[in-house]
Amino acid sequence: MLQQQQYKIILCDYINPKSDSKCQFIQNAAVVLRRKSSNKYVVDSVGKRETVLKKMAGKKSKEVIDRRTMIMLPAFLDLHFHWVQDEVSLMPKNVLMTWLNRYTWPYERKFEKAAFARKAAKLFAQKLLAVGTMGGGCYASIHQASVNWAMKYFVGDFFIGNVLMTVNSPSYITQTAQAAKKLVAGMLKKYKGRYVVTPRFAITTDPATMKDVAAQARHYSAFIQTHISENYQEIEYTKHLYQNQKGFSKAYDSYAKIYDHCNILTPKTILAHAIHVDEEELRLLKKRRVSIAHCPTSNAPIEQKGLGSGVMDFSSLDRLKIPWGLASDIGGGPYLSMFDVMRSFLVQNMQKKEATAIKALYRATLANAKILRIDKKTGNLERGKQANFILIKYPSKSRPQKAEQLLKNILLVKESRRKNFMNIVCESYYQGLNLFSSKQ
Ligand SMILES: [Zn+2]
Repeated sequence: MLQQQQYKIILCDYINPKSDSKCQFIQNAAVVLRRKSSNKYVVDSVGKRETVLKKMAGKKSKEVIDRRTMIMLPAFLDLHFHWVQDEVSLMPKNVLMTWLNRYTWPYERKFEKAAFARKAAKLFAQKLLAVGTMGGGCYASIHQASVNWAMKYFVGDFFIGNVLMTVNSPSYITQTAQAAKKLVAGMLKKYKGRYVVTPRFAITTDPATMKDVAAQARHYSAFIQTHISENYQEIEYTKHLYQNQKGFSKAYDSYAKIYDHCNILTPKTILAHAIHVDEEELRLLKKRRVSIAHCPTSNAPIEQKGLGSGVMDFSSLDRLKIPWGLASDIGGGPYLSMFDVMRSFLVQNMQKKEATAIKALYRATLANAKILRIDKKTGNLERGKQANFILIKYPSKSRPQKAEQLLKNILLVKESRRKNFMNIVCESYYQGLNLFSSKQ
């Protein structure tokens, strides 16, 4: 690759989320990227166009990229998604267990063929860039190749694990406990902290295996990810299964306690959903310092292409200061775009004044970077961080002065227009390199 210029200066409007309530918004901005090593760029500075251009006038090695009609936002991080479910994301939705049995598991079986997994991973890597997602917590299938190819092709900070399925799953997608433990051991050795220990959920991973892989995760200081309390049928089934398990006499009545008993709840654990959790469970999650992946599009009613699981109460998490972030839960959620996830978060929480568009953006970017412990290098567009960002067009002629209003104009589209979010990104840059441009 040719050595690129020392500086890139992007002329655009600039949005930089900082917290639940703070978001920097500069119109007519110039964002300066500086080459750090080889062809990798970090954010150097940002300011009003004229001021920055004057300051940079003396620099010889620079490229000016004129995107004056566009808005720059940091790249997204998706805290919970199943890359091996892309094909089923728009299949008819039903309650969780029926949907898993009918569509999801038969599809995941296809990844037993490494060539299929490779082709799918290459394609999915392009889709991630096209929606501006450059990192997150990702579930693959039980098959080794589904992690290997994803690790190779996905661009960004992805933490990926094989789902573990040792019990109560169709035979074509069930591993022995021995095979599950061996798989985790080998993959942790190979990928260290990038590999996530991923018991699918308490229904399909037996408790002895959960304990074993939790110990392995601790040894490598790796993340653990799983699902908790998505819907009532699942919760009842879980409790029923653990009622007669040896050693669970005191824990079987609570989903959180079951996981705790298997040492799954740690400061590096990301639990998806947590919709139907009681106060006692919440306090346990708080005590164990776990984080929650909130998946509003996946949890939405069936007529909105979700699994109809309910609305997670983010206010309870905020009250207890439990870290949480937004996630698409592909294929439970219908669209990979984090714009769609942010929209659902707003729509589902209209009555809460603290459910702002700025909060939604923060929870789809920097909050997830903090949970994934990559916030020193990515998550927003602070000076010194990797230049990972997207450019989008203004949604209409109006030019609001406030970030909240602009984000609302972008996000609050009609139900029938949600799929357009898949094409909203004009350009995606990873470490300052343009890796995706839309054709329109
Ligand atoms: Zn999921």
